[in-house]
Amino acid sequence: MEFKKSTVYKGSLAVLTTKHQKFKAIATPMRAGLGLNLLTVNFDTDTLGTFTGEVERKGSARENALKKARIGMAMAGKKLGIASEGSFGPHPLVPFLSAGEETMAFIDDKLKIEVVEQMLSLKSNFAHCSVQRFEELSDFLKRVKFPSHAVIVRPNFNRTNWVSNLSSKLGISIPPQQIFKGITNQEELQEAFEHCRTISEDGLVLIQSDMRAHLNPTRLRLIRQLAIKLARRLAHGCSVCGCPGWGVTGVVSGLPCRDCRFPSDLPKLEVFACPSCTHQETLPRRDGVLNVDPMNCEMCNP
Ligand SMILES: [Zn+2]
Ligand SMILES: [Zn+2]
Repeated sequence: MEFKKSTVYKGSLAVLTTKHQKFKAIATPMRAGLGLNLLTVNFDTDTLGTFTGEVERKGSARENALKKARIGMAMAGKKLGIASEGSFGPHPLVPFLSAGEETMAFIDDKLKIEVVEQMLSLKSNFAHCSVQRFEELSDFLKRVKFPSHAVIVRPNFNRTNWVSNLSSKLGISIPPQQIFKGITNQEELQEAFEHCRTISEDGLVLIQSDMRAHLNPTRLRLIRQLAIKLARRLAHGCSVCGCPGWGVTGVVSGLPCRDCRFPSDLPKLEVFACPSCTHQETLPRRDGVLNVDPMNCEMCNP
């Protein structure tokens, strides 16, 4: 595959929209990889949706990351913007594992391009549980890496949950009264737990991992890796027009079975494209995988 090294962003300034202190994790790779400097704007990204559901998230991670980047660019009056967005849940292929996905968007309004990169990780500590007694928590706390990673405590069910669900449906934001976020020490945890237990209508307390980046080193590490991936992509210029951001934008499925050659749903080829012109190249997977194990073949192992 052909690409030109792009140095367009050397010495430029881009604005990073973030509330949750992702600056270092993103700024270092951008400076090292592209010579691009970042400034941050103080925008409360929680107004676009929170992980804990007080404000419901709308749209895809891609749309949200782009929207956040645009907000920062408008606030700072810059032509270059970056923002990231995390999403968490069961792994798409292995439902009993939890996964974290980060999405990072870069916008250049001078070149009129948008470049988005994503990264999926199984190292996520995303989890929740409901218990009656504090002692029941010890295994869960180990799993979510408390106290190096923060947790959130709230009553499993009470009127506050009901009000916050309703308010998000109506698109208005009512500050929740009974939710304790960002807990990183045992004493505070126990205090919040006892309080929530007494006001919980079913006597259970709901504990969740706090997924906000500055309280979650695992997530911050993934954001850093993704920033490196995005910086690499922006250093790749299109071999036809020279625009930065040449990279994978899609896949062609149909990876064949090793024995019977029946095509699976898994990616067989990767589509590289330029964010500006129509130049594209379709190439074999970079990881070198050429076929599917017959164990996972619909024909060999239905
Ligand atoms: Zn091009
Ligand atoms: Zn087969």
